[in-house]
Amino acid sequence: MNSLRVQEIRPSELLEGQKEAFALDVAWLNSRKERFVRVLCPACGHNSKNRVFHKYGVSYCECRNCDTVYMNPRPSYGLLKKYYQRSENASYWRDHIYPASEKSRREKIFKPRVRKLQEVVQGIAPRLLVDVGAGFGTFCQLVQEAEMFERVIAVEPTPVLANTCRFREIETIENPIEEATFWEKVSVFTAFELIEHLFEPFTFLTRCARQLAPGGRIVLTCPNVGGFETALLWDKSSTFDIEHLNLFNQESITLLLNRCGFDVKEITTPGKLDAELVREAILDEDYEPSSFLTQVLIDDWERLGDRFQYWLSANSLSSHMMIVGEK
Ligand SMILES: [Zn+2]
Repeated sequence: MNSLRVQEIRPSELLEGQKEAFALDVAWLNSRKERFVRVLCPACGHNSKNRVFHKYGVSYCECRNCDTVYMNPRPSYGLLKKYYQRSENASYWRDHIYPASEKSRREKIFKPRVRKLQEVVQGIAPRLLVDVGAGFGTFCQLVQEAEMFERVIAVEPTPVLANTCRFREIETIENPIEEATFWEKVSVFTAFELIEHLFEPFTFLTRCARQLAPGGRIVLTCPNVGGFETALLWDKSSTFDIEHLNLFNQESITLLLNRCGFDVKEITTPGKLDAELVREAILDEDYEPSSFLTQVLIDDWERLGDRFQYWLSANSLSSHMMIVGEK
């Protein structure tokens, strides 16, 4: 198994600076609460909810119909757009964390995704790939280098990140996907760690479905709120931060994709960090484990850590999921 450690993608020596930048963003959003709006469940559209908790000054609830966890009320579409245009956290990631972690991200996250994409495009004409929320541009660059598509477009609304994509000579649209215009049909949309950030995932997916060529595909990755790490740590999980508005599980993301015109071809949980994140929470005394978990994640970590993570991922139990949809 190709293991991954938190240190490789979020180096601990940079976390203090990231916390400071994030705190500025949290304060910025919290001082604009009058522009928060109430919403229905982003997966199924129902209005029945329970199990509310608060974190960073905002509220999360859980849908009684489909168990999606979502921020409610949440920043309006316009407020979110402004948030990402000026985000201190995004600048910090661009300047510090992405450069320091790019090598590991390229090898252990993005190259496997490119290999996955090679499977996904079997049987379709690979003309145009659109990567939504392209971030630092590493994935688009790898796809371009692999010459899998005639054209690759990065959609990235945060100016500092869009600049990085352009610097890598990737065709870049510096706008939210909701405001982007495409003049040709898209063969494949990719959106990694994006859908949890959106004001209205339904609108995003419906728009993708409309823009896709017949038989076109969409590849999403996002947190799985039913997975090991999130289910155990719950409100202590870093999955619940002020930027994550929609936390789906495997059933609810399937329901949402179906509502938006997609068949779900494949849903897997390739996450690699559940065991380590729970182990860290135990060591930081943020989570009180059973004696069995202490044995697996602390006492016998060197022998069992990777194997336990592999077992979680292989059995659809990780808190990070990948979904392939077909129009
Ligand atoms: Zn629901």
